[in-house]
Amino acid sequence: MSQHPLFATRASRMKASEIRELLKLLDQPGIISFAGGIPDPALFPAEAFSQAFQQALGPDMQAQALQYSVSEGYAPLRRWLVQHMREFGVECDMDNVLITSGSQQALDYLGKLFLSPGDTALVGWPTYLGALAAFNAYEPRFDRLNGNKGADEFRAAAEDGAVKFAYLSPDFANPTGETLTRPGREALLNLTDELDCALIEDGAYQALRYDGDPIPPILALEQARKGSIENCRTIYCGSFSKTLSPGLRMGWVVAAKPIISQMVLLKQAADLHSATINQMAVHQVAEACFDTHIPKVRDTYRARRDAMLDALQQHMPDGVAWTRPEGGMFVWVTLPSGISGSDLLAQALDTVKVAFVPGQAFFPDGSGANTIRLSFSNSDEATIREGIRRLGQVLRA
Ligand code: PMP
Repeated sequence: MSQHPLFATRASRMKASEIRELLKLLDQPGIISFAGGIPDPALFPAEAFSQAFQQALGPDMQAQALQYSVSEGYAPLRRWLVQHMREFGVECDMDNVLITSGSQQALDYLGKLFLSPGDTALVGWPTYLGALAAFNAYEPRFDRLNGNKGADEFRAAAEDGAVKFAYLSPDFANPTGETLTRPGREALLNLTDELDCALIEDGAYQALRYDGDPIPPILALEQARKGSIENCRTIYCGSFSKTLSPGLRMGWVVAAKPIISQMVLLKQAADLHSATINQMAVHQVAEACFDTHIPKVRDTYRARRDAMLDALQQHMPDGVAWTRPEGGMFVWVTLPSGISGSDLLAQALDTVKVAFVPGQAFFPDGSGANTIRLSFSNSDEATIREGIRRLGQVLRA
């Protein structure tokens, strides 16, 4: 689409997300979709939410629930999050916590807060598409975090702009499913210290670990080095989307107070505050059943991941490689070079009715043509096995 002459320069960098466009096509019967990366709605704690909303709309709470509220977020929810973060080894208080409308909003605010046009954002190659889209609007350049560059090379490459932050999802990343090791996290802290830039830790999938030992969040590791959270450069973004419900759009940020105060100003300018009633409901449900609900979510997704890994082993031809995630929702597949993920998608949709996301969109430089992302979260095991069998069939042909 050609750009309207009145639009700002940033608009020319905005593209419709391939994934969203694709999702529109998937409402046809018979399609097996590994595309979405969305939670299974059967796992929503719907009954608990029903009670929570009834209570919020009851005589004692309705005036508060339907009213404007503070930009920082609903205090009882922020208090709950202080406890929640403590379980992961992060010590903070309420003033270090901001409630956002999904963690996607936090990514947008952080782009707005840190990036002037021409500044550098260091990101994984590939990286979560929504983060690229959020940052891209602020006209940065992207450099590759998971190559082998050191601080001097990043600085030299940054030329006119400064390196402002490194962004990554260290646990079961979208799209690769990979987890950054503890030494990898320590090395990243060294790098960001050397560059004196911020570090954005996207914890969207952190609670969804199916096996292996948990690794502390980068924010916890930095706090262990530097004592107080006020000395930390890591900005942790959390989300209730993968654990309780994405539709309520509830996320949070934990960081040093000067960062949170600045983000509160951004929130005031953007939407004043996240929906009061949703914050109250999420607080009540988290309080009542987070700890009993999460194991159920993990058990369901673990079985689906196992089914997918098993089926890949059984049906993929030689030359195809894939990741073995310890959690999250995604397996990342590398096809033999020369085979394009987009071509494979067209063929798989047409001939065997299987959908997934071609990997190229996750690379800021448009590389990765021979990769695809498979999500195992939203199909049962039998469907996953059948879908992977069909995909193997197309690849062999
Ligand atoms: N970060 C990552 C890595 C994600 O995959 C997603 C959603 N798919 C988000 C952030 C945004 O999630 P939400 O806004 O629903 O919290």
